[in-house]
Amino acid sequence: MIIILRESATEDQITHVVERVQSLGLQAHLSKGTYRTVIGVIGDEEQIRSAPLAAIPGVAEVVAVQPAFKLASRTAHPEPSVIEVGSGKNVARFGGGHVGMIAGPCAIESAERLDKIAGAIKKAGATVLRGGAYKPRTSPYAFQGMGEDGLKLLREIGDKHGLPVVTEAIDPRHVELVAEWADMIQLGARNMQNFVLLTEVGKTQKPVLMKRGMAATVKDLLMSAEYVLSQGNPNVVLCERGVKGFDNACRNMYDVCAIPQTHELSHLPIIVDPSHATGRPEMIPACALAGVAAGADGVHIEVHNCPEDALSDGPQALLPEQYAELAQQIRKVAEAVGKTI
Ligand code: PEP
Ligand code: MN
Repeated sequence: MIIILRESATEDQITHVVERVQSLGLQAHLSKGTYRTVIGVIGDEEQIRSAPLAAIPGVAEVVAVQPAFKLASRTAHPEPSVIEVGSGKNVARFGGGHVGMIAGPCAIESAERLDKIAGAIKKAGATVLRGGAYKPRTSPYAFQGMGEDGLKLLREIGDKHGLPVVTEAIDPRHVELVAEWADMIQLGARNMQNFVLLTEVGKTQKPVLMKRGMAATVKDLLMSAEYVLSQGNPNVVLCERGVKGFDNACRNMYDVCAIPQTHELSHLPIIVDPSHATGRPEMIPACALAGVAAGADGVHIEVHNCPEDALSDGPQALLPEQYAELAQQIRKVAEAVGKTI
């Protein structure tokens, strides 16, 4: 940590900062320039971080040298992590040159529908089946999901088609149940900073799909991943799904830049979800390909065989045949950037 003092800081204030740092059991290395003094602070990182050094009179700024997300950071783990979802021969991989392909309906609605969609996406090359059993809806009057019955259907149909399954947990009380039926637990954008939920999911060893909150920075996302990692679960896949923007042309604002930024800061894989990012089927293919070209470790797409009849997110769903065409294009772009599905 580096403490930068104000130009106007007095000698008494500088001495006080040094004494305060030393009283915390930390070392202070003073460096006096013509106009400003800076103090390098050395010692236990967590203690330095929790000390309110910026509140000391005369201090202009406190700059961290190491990121607070130490387990998620590249510094801690220079090689990219590869996260495996599923078991046996139906394993999907994310990261380190592997592009995972998650697809399926927004919500699990019925066995027949899920079965049709799962068959189609498997044929197209998807590697993970998605479907929400607990839906975090903006309106309390909207379809809230099939709950436990939905989890069982997802498991059954995933197994039938040889696809590992991912579904969202929205309540810490459901984590055990979701972990029992799913291969991967999704943490939705609305819950990215539900720290109780993150901690519960971190206690399992299940791979986690962590979506970026709609007003969260990439560093906020990495701090949320740190909650899961710090509980002993290293299997986190991040997801860029758009943030709130000022333009209502799309549902959200797709941030492709988040992909190289995440790769620079972290070893964790990051995938893209152009379905929720754009909310518009005609824009999903271009944004999916842009994500893979920018280095995304996977693509998450909502697919429905009858979008006009869907109980959730119908207007943004791709038809199975549209997904099949997109999956072929994704494969070509992935190969062009040296990756495999
Ligand atoms: C979803 O995946 O259906 C979903 C609700 O996503 P998000 O949390 O990104 O809005
Ligand atoms: Mn959805």
